[in-house]
Amino acid sequence: MNSTGRFAPSPTGPLHAGSLVAALASWLDVRARGPQAKWLVRVEDADTERCLPGMGDTILEQLAACHLVPDAPPLWQTQRVSLYQRALDRLASAGRAYPCGCSRKDIDQALARLGQAHQRHGERIYPGTCRNGLHGKPARAWRLRVPDGDVRWTDRRLGAQNQDVSAEVGDFILKRADGPWAYQLAVVVDDADQGITDIVRGEDLADNTARQILLQRALGLPTPSYLHTPLVLAADGQKLSKQNGAEALDTRTPGAALAALKAAAVALGLPTGTALTIHEALAGWVPAWRDLYNLAP
Ligand code: GLU
Repeated sequence: MNSTGRFAPSPTGPLHAGSLVAALASWLDVRARGPQAKWLVRVEDADTERCLPGMGDTILEQLAACHLVPDAPPLWQTQRVSLYQRALDRLASAGRAYPCGCSRKDIDQALARLGQAHQRHGERIYPGTCRNGLHGKPARAWRLRVPDGDVRWTDRRLGAQNQDVSAEVGDFILKRADGPWAYQLAVVVDDADQGITDIVRGEDLADNTARQILLQRALGLPTPSYLHTPLVLAADGQKLSKQNGAEALDTRTPGAALAALKAAAVALGLPTGTALTIHEALAGWVPAWRDLYNLAP
């Protein structure tokens, strides 16, 4: 199968220095595999509440200013909800997904009863209250029935990884009470539908991989290879993110775009050389990336 990679930004804010590292790395990873390999862009606007109007187009313009142009027109998740519904229907009819009627308060009370005020990254670990039925409550969300045991995978940069999703995350949400599709379901359905073979994204997303592998298995979909890129830290040592107001990349002039790309290349451990144009810089980094990640030319 031809290699296919992707960059999947959420339009919750413009591209910042950290997101450009992931975009450049996924672009290089594809280009280093030769002319048959494809690089795609998907605008992850499924979580409509967090998205800002016009931001998807702004991100595509920022990418284009950096000459990171996808090999097919970008996909927008809001246009793909029927695919997500079909996947959820399949999971539900196979007994792999179930409706949940718990509010946050119900979950807190159940956890307190179990003596587990247990949270992970500020999120409650669902205690499984509705696994065997709604007990007369109306459905508020759909959850995946997570099997017990470790999920193991190998990241191309981070090496062997392992997470017991049932113990560390619990039965996670596929569709929320208030309507939007959860990132985990949308990303797995889209990656498979777009034939993505090689996922390259920021290390802040590594922790989602085990959940996504469980969903791939539950839906009978292939598991792509994963590479999580180093995070760019702000001056105060915090991770750069749209949530903590990371500055938008300035790509208004070719010089500014080249400077942004060079900073991203440094973060990836690539030499910045003396390239004069963006095009030359990108072409020059392809063989260096191939050396770093031992891809066949
Ligand atoms: N849309 C996600 C984000 O911007 C990335 C999804 C992914 O690469 O898997 O954080």
